[in-house]
Amino acid sequence: MEKQALTDNQLESMSFRGGVDSMVDRATLAIGLNPDTAKVIQACNAVLQLKFPVKLNNSVEVFTGWWAVHSAHRLPAKGGLRFSALVNQDEIEALAALMTYKCAIADIPFGGAKGGLMINPANYSEDELREITRRFAMELARKDFIHPSVSVPAPDMGTSSREMAWIADTYKLLFPEDLNQNACVTGKPVERGGITGRTEATGKGVQYALQEFFRHPDAVESARLMDGLPDKRVVFQGLGNVGYHSAKVLSEQDKVKVIAIIERDGVVINEEGLNVHDVRQYFVETGGLKGFPAGDYDENSTEALEMECDILIPAAMESQIHAGNASRIQARMIVEAANGPVTYEADEILTGRGITILPDIYVNAGGVTVSYFEWTRNLSHMRFGRLQRRYDELRGQNLITAMEALTEKEVPDELDREISRGASELDLVRSGLDDTMRTAFQDLREVMKTYPHIRDYRTAAYAIAITKIAKSYYDLGMVEPPRP
Ligand code: NAD
Repeated sequence: MEKQALTDNQLESMSFRGGVDSMVDRATLAIGLNPDTAKVIQACNAVLQLKFPVKLNNSVEVFTGWWAVHSAHRLPAKGGLRFSALVNQDEIEALAALMTYKCAIADIPFGGAKGGLMINPANYSEDELREITRRFAMELARKDFIHPSVSVPAPDMGTSSREMAWIADTYKLLFPEDLNQNACVTGKPVERGGITGRTEATGKGVQYALQEFFRHPDAVESARLMDGLPDKRVVFQGLGNVGYHSAKVLSEQDKVKVIAIIERDGVVINEEGLNVHDVRQYFVETGGLKGFPAGDYDENSTEALEMECDILIPAAMESQIHAGNASRIQARMIVEAANGPVTYEADEILTGRGITILPDIYVNAGGVTVSYFEWTRNLSHMRFGRLQRRYDELRGQNLITAMEALTEKEVPDELDREISRGASELDLVRSGLDDTMRTAFQDLREVMKTYPHIRDYRTAAYAIAITKIAKSYYDLGMVEPPRP
């Protein structure tokens, strides 16, 4: 595949946003899309920067926040809301762009957005955080940057269902007459209009992505891995929402060996496999990994990324694998649970070394997929399965009665239970998520068949995303027709 002529200096100085744009450029070249169309796709449509004061105790603090809508080719624009002291506009624009591409790959009819508030949540009490979040939400909602049909936030680093509940309540107070007020934000607690299975959705999506990958023997072989997930030696970076849930289900259900977990304060290693639940419990109680009894601790967390393993799953933050350490990575496969954990320059080095990468815009699409389910549930004002669950149960029971009458044998209890069980909302959410992850991976493989010079999943993923978005812009007469 033709590569872009970027000098070492250009590569080193590339921003997160620049890296994402370069990935689009690479896919544009690979599929022969008009570069002018790529420019339309890459442009971030709108960015709002806010500086707002909040009175805390006896002093006033001024906070800085952003909301970026990368693409409104589909509405609402959807994206996570990040609370971090390191957040900046370049990062928010890059993350908003990733959301656009992710939604296109997962076939979700949303544009891409992202929000950020420059704050270290650990420095504030819960009451203070509520006050700050409500104020930020009010500023955004008043300018239509939070709205069920325009722009809809979800949890990301530093936020959870708690902040989403505060945002939903703020919106409701501002616009009580809006019938669809609950759909102004996703990732809410279930009791406040959320959907079962959203909290762990991104982690489950990571699991489904890996399960699907291992269903394709040629893909597994080209990653120089042996068949099957059981006993694969896996290293995780980040034990927050995404890292914890993916590590938990992969170790408990797929029997992978989590041999190391890397956090900010260090790494805990156990070649026999860590009990993820226990590590998380210890981490939550003590605020770090140091002293965890069932593993060896090392405070050098950055070098731990270079450990020999089958699969490395970065689930913390962007730019963790870069030009400086990419040549030392020993994993055979990298599964990007975080957004942008591998920089553009590192991606070039790693793929050049034959390391398989499953890209963020595919792997972590589980969160926005279940957010989409939550949003449609909020618009329908009814939980999934409510109408048909008992009807399905009745049909199952009738089927068993008929089978028993015809065969004059009793259906075994376990089979009886399975056949006569109607799907719960969680069953439906999981089924929809699994289907999304499987279909998206098969789409990546199709693209690689259509364009045999595309040898990596990231370029294939971007090729799908930009083709779909280009088609949608073409329908509006904004760009030249994309190739079929
Ligand atoms: P989180 O705040 O719950 O967890 C992040 C974890 O990473 C924390 O435990 C933190 O201590 C750790 N961490 C941060 N920097 C680190 C470093 N340098 N080394 C080791 N550990 C570090 O955040 P999250 O929601 O789990 O998000 C993680 C990543 O996944 C982010 O890139 C986010 O954008 C992405 N993501 C999240 C979701 C979601 O639904 N929450 C969806 C899609 C993508």
